[in-house]
Formats: sequence, C-alpha cells, structure tokens
Amino acid sequence: MGQSFKSGANLQKFLNSKSRFGTIRMGLLVPNLFHNLAFMEPAYISMHNQGVLKEIAEALHHELKDCTLCPRNCHADRLSGDLGTCSTGELAMVSSYMPHFGEESPISGTHGSGTIFFTHCNLLCNFCQNYDISHEGRGREVSPRELADMMLTLQALGCHNINFVTPSHVVPQILQALIPAIEDGLRIPLVYNSGGYDKVSTLKLLDGIIDIYMPDFKFWDSNIANETCNASDYPDMARQSVTEMYRQVGDLVVNTTGVAERGLLIRHLVMPEGVAGTRKIMDFLSTKISPETYVNIMPQYRPCGKACDIPILKRPIEMKEYRDAITDAKSAGLTRLDQR
Ligand code: SF4
Repeated sequence: MGQSFKSGANLQKFLNSKSRFGTIRMGLLVPNLFHNLAFMEPAYISMHNQGVLKEIAEALHHELKDCTLCPRNCHADRLSGDLGTCSTGELAMVSSYMPHFGEESPISGTHGSGTIFFTHCNLLCNFCQNYDISHEGRGREVSPRELADMMLTLQALGCHNINFVTPSHVVPQILQALIPAIEDGLRIPLVYNSGGYDKVSTLKLLDGIIDIYMPDFKFWDSNIANETCNASDYPDMARQSVTEMYRQVGDLVVNTTGVAERGLLIRHLVMPEGVAGTRKIMDFLSTKISPETYVNIMPQYRPCGKACDIPILKRPIEMKEYRDAITDAKSAGLTRLDQR
C-alpha cells in the first residue's frame, strides 16, 4: 500500500481499484463477502464493460417486433406501430421524473430515490391509484438519449438510485438508454419497481444489470386477479418472478448509512375483506423465498379508478385489517418488515 499519489486522478484510481480478493476502497481492501459496506459498485458497470449490456439491449429491441416481453404475450409488432395491452410502441413514455422521498427508507435514504414514472402498464389494475398515467396514458414519448439524461440528472441531484416505476413493458427501452447513461457517468444502483407481473425469461436478461428488485405481490387468488386486472395468471407469474428476482440479488443489503445497494424488497397492499390473500403471500415469502425478505405491508388502499364497480373494493381498509396483515407477516416468520 506504500504508493504515493501525485495527482487526484491517481488517488481516485487507487481508491477504486480491484484485486482478486475484493475491491480497494478508500485505501482499504473490502473483501467481496462484505456486501453491507457503503461502496458497492452497481452490477451493470461490469456488464457494460464486457459489452454484454449492448448485446442484450439489441436483442431485446428486436423482441419488440413480435412482443412477448411480459405474460400478456401480445405478439404486437411494436416497431411498426402496433400496440399491445400496454399501449406502448417503440419508444417509452414517461409521465414524470423526480427525486422521491416517500419510498421505503432504504430506497429514499436522505437524498431521495431517482424515480422515473413510465406511462402505461402491462397489468392495468382497475383500482390503480395512478389511473391517469397507467390507463389513460398521461406522459410523453422519450428517446433513449432523453431517458439517459433523466437518469444522469437524477444522479446529479444526489439521488441514491434510479427507480424505474412500472418498467415491465419498457425493458428494451431502459437498456437502450442505459448504455449512453453509463458512458456519461451513471454509477448509482438501478431499482426495478414493477407490479410483479413479469416474465422470467425477460427477467433473466436483467441478471447482472438490475441491483434492486422492488415488485408488488398483489394477490394470491387468481379469480381476484382476473376480476381486478384481467390477469388470472398473476399469482403464478408473481411467484415465479419473485423467485427469479431473489435468485439474482438475494436479500436486501443496505450500506452503513442504511441505504439499499442490492437485493429484493417486496411491497404488498392490504385490501378490503382480505381479498389480497395476505397470509398466503407472507407464508410463500417466508418459506419459499427467505424469512429475511424485506417486506413493506402498505395500508393506503382507497378506491380509485374503476374500483367502485366492484362492491368489495368500494371502501378503504380499516386499521384492524392492516394490523391483522402485520400479524400475518410476523406469524409467517418474516423478520424484516418496513418500519414506517
Ligand atoms: S410488453 Fe406490452 S405488448 Fe409486449 S407482451 Fe407485454 S403488454 Fe403485450
């Protein structure tokens, strides 16, 4: 370690160098096993350096010609202007991007999560709280360069991560934009914030690119999923997706400042009359994924969109229903419940 640093550049190089045993940060060897320190390099950097990211982005863009990226399997030719269930063509649409301080504390940290809200959705819950964005298409098309600049702006604002909200139908566009973003200095973790209606074959292409998966697990019962989202396969797809996400990134890892750097975070919205199937979902997470799964059980359900068309969804949840959901999670053996 007896090196002298004649310039700031040399010092920076040393501080960020790598050895076969780990990464040298701040002049200290950080063994590869110490995942909970504050200096983890996002996974996508090495994928980009190896040229793999570009190959995957090109392959995924080609998939838009006959789109089966998500469980809807529309076979729409999105490169020629055809639209599938997600109503999105070749370009992604964005409704807004901003530092977000209302996410879970490991995601928002102190400087906010760099959220990019994509327009449209592949799940289309009829009770959606962002109905104007997901169903009615509020937003505008963005080029890959514009999307890259959004990421870089959010990083420059000090955000801890780039948080892709509702990304399942725009995975190719995200990867296409990621390349210029990385080349221009993007270095913060990527969060895949989906409704949980993802396809394992698409997720596998994100292995080594996404740092943090933050899916919803909405329903256990396929009849409820059919009635609310026209997606009777949702519970099965969510189980498979969460399993694959966990395989890739494991339990949520936070750094010494409490900010997430890698791992899985599950969101579950408590719904009236127990229609979400909370206890079964918690049992699944605890026994089939990990009792250390970080879970945010959310109480904010209120009837939005077309929820009032379904009698059981016409009212907000009661405090007792939320408390029962927390009890279900603890009884299932889950040990990392969001504390807000
Ligand atoms: S991404 Fe869109 S077009 Fe492609 S399968 Fe899913 S809903 Fe259909």
